[in-house]
Amino acid sequence: MKILIVNCGSSSVKFQLLDMSNETLLAKGLIERIGSSDAIINYQGGDAPKLREVREVLNHEDAMEIVLHLLMHPQNGVMKRREEIVGIGHRVVHGGEAFVDSVRIDEPVKAAIEKCIQFAPLHNPANLKGIEACERLLAGVPQVAVFDTAFHHSIPPQAYIYGLPYALYRKHGIRRYGFHGTSHRYVAAQAAEILGKPSEAVNVITCHLGNGASITAVQGGKSVDTSMGFTPLEGLIMGTRCGDIDPAIIPYLMERENLTPKQIDTLLNKNSGMLGLTGTSNDMREILAEADAGSEQHRLAIDVYCYRVRKYVGAYLAVLGRVDAVVFTGGIGENAAPIRERSLRGMEHLGIGVNAEKNRSHQTRVESGRIAVLVIPTNEELAIGRDTARLLSGGSRPAGAAAAARKPAAKAKKLPKTGKG
Ligand code: ADP
Repeated sequence: MKILIVNCGSSSVKFQLLDMSNETLLAKGLIERIGSSDAIINYQGGDAPKLREVREVLNHEDAMEIVLHLLMHPQNGVMKRREEIVGIGHRVVHGGEAFVDSVRIDEPVKAAIEKCIQFAPLHNPANLKGIEACERLLAGVPQVAVFDTAFHHSIPPQAYIYGLPYALYRKHGIRRYGFHGTSHRYVAAQAAEILGKPSEAVNVITCHLGNGASITAVQGGKSVDTSMGFTPLEGLIMGTRCGDIDPAIIPYLMERENLTPKQIDTLLNKNSGMLGLTGTSNDMREILAEADAGSEQHRLAIDVYCYRVRKYVGAYLAVLGRVDAVVFTGGIGENAAPIRERSLRGMEHLGIGVNAEKNRSHQTRVESGRIAVLVIPTNEELAIGRDTARLLSGGSRPAGAAAAARKPAAKAKKLPKTGKG
């Protein structure tokens, strides 16, 4: 049962072909710099050597055509005919309030995704381009949209309403939506499985620390609060995003530095976070190396980063009351032992702590206290593949994330981790 997973960015297409009958990865690739004469194509099919090519790729349809050719490549291909693809799962960034779960794509769904462009002007148009390209190239193959926001639909109003005039929520839909939902849902279900309990019985705090980063409070398999908000800018310090700041800084800086709305948006989204703090890099590996080599500036950046994570973990402890596990995922959460350790430092009195030795040796369970601390590789593509397979067979999601939790973890491990966001 071959399912194509498609993640379209404004100038990129990331894809995987999964065999969902046994949850294995058949092929994967990334096309970047779409719209230029020197787009970069990376592809790996099965055990064959990786392919890399630089050539003109005009648009997303062009890119999807290349994807299909790669999948049927004489040497590196993993299928013979397009018809072998029985379903396509698309990552869609923003589903607004319209979508509370993944959904089969039809004309009204496309119209609703289009309506959400106002909330995600860079991402949703690209997602739609990918959907329409697949419609043309793989006519008749069912498509499913899996939204970054959908898992957070269960957040209650007290957590999603901002302290702004309520009329602005009604008029413009200004509220917390949250993102990285597919990853939080996946690792929360994995955590329940590791703890040997049904998702419904488990409360976890999931920390997705990648280039983008967010934390979610998951109660019985349902998101009840998350650190990203109306946009992915809120919350944690990220690679290049500032996370929480006093909103009054924005008009102040616009006036003092004579910045347009677009310029301040770029400053907060692209030039802040770890890049802005260090002045050198948004790559946590480089930042940790600089700090180890004695750079005070890089040490400060790491302190600010970890302190913000700790503050949110503490906040979500208060939100959840009882917590069974803190989960780390994403490129940093999965790989950066010092960040895990420093983020939870000083919380031992609350039952949360990291065992230095287990943490350094990259075990799954690294806690030193009463509350489990888990390192779980995320796999959003697998989650999208599962949702697509479920919707193709006409299924609806069982309560919470129980369906994903019931899948054996060993199967999930066959697929490589891919951090997100
Ligand atoms: P994205 O959000 O773009 O999917 P990832 O989840 O892959 O990103 O995370 C990227 C981040 O993970 C980068 O900051 C990178 O430095 C960090 N990272 C990856 N491997 C390590 C490692 N071994 N140690 C520290 N940080 C790492």
